[in-house]
Order: sequence, then C-alpha cells, then structure tokens
Amino acid sequence: MGCESCSSGSCSTANKDGLPPGMLQKYRLNIDRSDGFLVWIETETDEEGRPRMCGYCRELLGRIREMDGGRSRVWGVIFGHLELKPLYPEIYSYGVETLYEVHDRRLSVYHPEAYAENIAQIVIRTEPAVILFGATPRGRELAPRVAALLDAGLTADCTGLELNDRDLLMTRPAFGGNVMATIRCTTFPQIATVRPGTFPVPEPDTSRRGTVIYWQNSSETLKEILKTESRRTADEDISGARVLVSLGAGVKKDLIPIAESLAAKLGGTVSCSRKLVENGWFPQSRQVGQSGKNVSPEIYLAFGISGSIQHLAGIASAKRIIAVNSDSNAKIAEVADEFIIGDANRIIAELEKSL
Ligand SMILES: Cc1cc2nc3c(=O)[nH]c(=O)nc-3n(C[C@H](O)[C@H](O)[C@H](O)COP(=O)(O)OP(=O)(O)OC[C@H]3O[C@@H](n4cnc5c(N)ncnc54)[C@H](O)[C@@H]3O)c2cc1C
Repeated sequence: MGCESCSSGSCSTANKDGLPPGMLQKYRLNIDRSDGFLVWIETETDEEGRPRMCGYCRELLGRIREMDGGRSRVWGVIFGHLELKPLYPEIYSYGVETLYEVHDRRLSVYHPEAYAENIAQIVIRTEPAVILFGATPRGRELAPRVAALLDAGLTADCTGLELNDRDLLMTRPAFGGNVMATIRCTTFPQIATVRPGTFPVPEPDTSRRGTVIYWQNSSETLKEILKTESRRTADEDISGARVLVSLGAGVKKDLIPIAESLAAKLGGTVSCSRKLVENGWFPQSRQVGQSGKNVSPEIYLAFGISGSIQHLAGIASAKRIIAVNSDSNAKIAEVADEFIIGDANRIIAELEKSL
C-alpha cells in the first residue's frame, strides 16, 4: 500500500492510517459516557536503585481531589514489574482508586511507543474525561503520542487547572509568555501536561484503599532495550525545596556564595531568574519561571528580581513571597506578602551573618 501522507508508492514512513511509524491504531472513546481522571504515575529510581513515584504526581492527584471534591473516579497507570508493589499504598493515599499496572519486564525501561499504546488501550477500557501527565521530559514525549492515538486534543505545559462539570479549563502561558491563556478542549478525552511544582502537595490520607489491575502489555511495537545510560546531573532539584533564596539581576556575582550559605542556614537552596542563567552564573536547572521550573516553597525570598510575568508564572504556588528590591515600583511588590525596599546585596550579607 502507498503512503497516504506523501502519495508515494515506495515511502515507508507512514502506515495505512497515515500515522507516524510505531502508531498502528486509532482508538475511539465514547464521549457521552466518559468521566473521571486518569493520571500517568511516572516513576524514578531512588539512591538505592528502587522505584519511587515522581513527586509531582502527588500534586496532580491533590489538584484532582481539590477540583472535583472526590466525586469522580481516579485511575492511575504505572509501568514496570513486580517491584512496584511497595508503591501502591502511597499512590492510593493521594487518591488513586484503581491502579493499572502494565506488566512486562521490558517496560521497566521507559519505552514511549509501548507506553503510549498501553495507555490508549486502558483509556478505551476506563473512558476517563481527563488524562493528565507531568510536563517532564518523558511526559512531554508520551502525552502527544497518546493524544494522537486517541485522536484527541492536548494542552501542553499547563500552569493551572480548573473544572467546570466535565470540562477542564487549562491555563498556560501563551504568546511568548505575555498572556496567560485559558484553554478548553472541544474533544474528549481532554489531555494536559502539567508543570511540576504547579500545585501544592496535599496531605496523604493513609486510610484510603485502592485496587490494582494487572494489565498484560499488548503493544505491538515493544522492543528489547539492551542498555541505557543515565545522564542525570548531580544538581539539586529546586521544584521540591521548602525555602528558596532566589537571585535576580540586582544581585552581584560575588554574593552567590553568601546567598548559598544563607539558603543552607534556612534549610533551603538557591534559585534564580533567567537573567542569571543567561549570564552563565547558574545552570538552567536553577531557573524559576515559565521557561524554567515552577516552584511551591513555604518561603520564596526574591532578591533583586523585578517580577516579570514569565518569572511570576513559576511562583504562583509559593506560600509566602518576601521580596527585596531597590525600586519601590518593582512589579514583584504586587505579589509579595512582604516587600522590602533596599539593597539586596547588603541585606543578603547581613541576614547570612545574623543567622
Ligand atoms: C519567552 C520568554 C520566557 C522567559 N522565561 C523566563 C523564566 O522562566 N524566568 C525568568 O526569570 N525570566 C524569564 N524570561 C525573562 C523575563 O522576561 C525577564 O527578563 C527576567 O525575568 C528578568 O530577570 P530579573 O528580574 O532578574 O532582572 P531585571 O528585570 O533586570 O530586574 C532586576 C531587578 O533588580 C532590582 N535591583 C537592581 N539593583 C538592586 C539592588 N542593589 N538591590 C535590590 N534590587 C536591585 C531592579 O530594581 C530590578 O527590579 C522570559 C522571557 C521570555 C521572552
């Protein structure tokens, strides 16, 4: 059969449905019946090489409960092998009622095509109205594949979610971050990737129980991955920090070690605005904001940061914002719980000394 996308008789890049290689099927959902939420439970390995649930999944599950008040069903999908059992109680405690564990030894290693196919099949079985992924490197790769298989829309990189009956209102920065757009999807299921650090982590309810369903992998594209190499850097993850000492262009470079010491004394870590990443003073992993990370610390100390819309997009969930700026009209004052007019360099040094 010739390729329908390019009308060439010899092309092998697309299959008979006009889908990219590896996407063999389109699935159809009954939109009248669809209800509830399905969340991809992403896992990572801890220091001892054991799997654990990625922290942002707690935020997503907490937000679902908050929006929906526990009315709808919540499904989780997790991939791997027998060693996932110890994770079940925690997953249930954040609100998953039914956990689909896709079984196949080979799926312990991330495999985008096979993960997407299995999720699409589980979606056809469960018929959720909403599917959520973290906007992590894997979630960003997996969600569009699932959306393509289900012929559904996808809103990527959301920084806010609201529910209106079965309609999900998804907020994300648009037009280079100059406006925050709220998007409603006209197709079901409604799929979104959500930035880690967007919502506060809820308290777990350890009395919650759930059910696990073992789902036999039926992907036709599963390959044996012989070897993987981790490229993870040793840099700290700012999205889970309780206290952030965040530095902007108003801070001098030689203050960085003092700010680091201050952050350590406060039990936190240092983050920054994009300008300092552009200066080469910090790696991108420390950047807060629209093109950096969303953070939700108990205390966000902003030194010499003006408060651009792109920066503020990353601190919407911070519990308490204390800003120091020499300009009384700085935009960050509009969102700060406490605003101190003064020299950030002097205040960092004095605070560090006094502690
Ligand atoms: C598509 C796009 C995505 C972006 N993503 C991000 C992002 O993720 N994160 C991000 O941060 N930015 C992002 N930006 C850049 C953003 O628009 C701003 O340029 C940036 O946030 C400004 O950083 P800043 O506040 O450190 O610097 P400035 O805006 O230059 O502000 C410096 C502040 O320091 C104050 N100051 C100066 N001297 C002192 C002193 N001695 N003591 C106290 N205060 C002092 C000044 O009054 C000023 O308010 C993005 C831009 C675009 C277009």
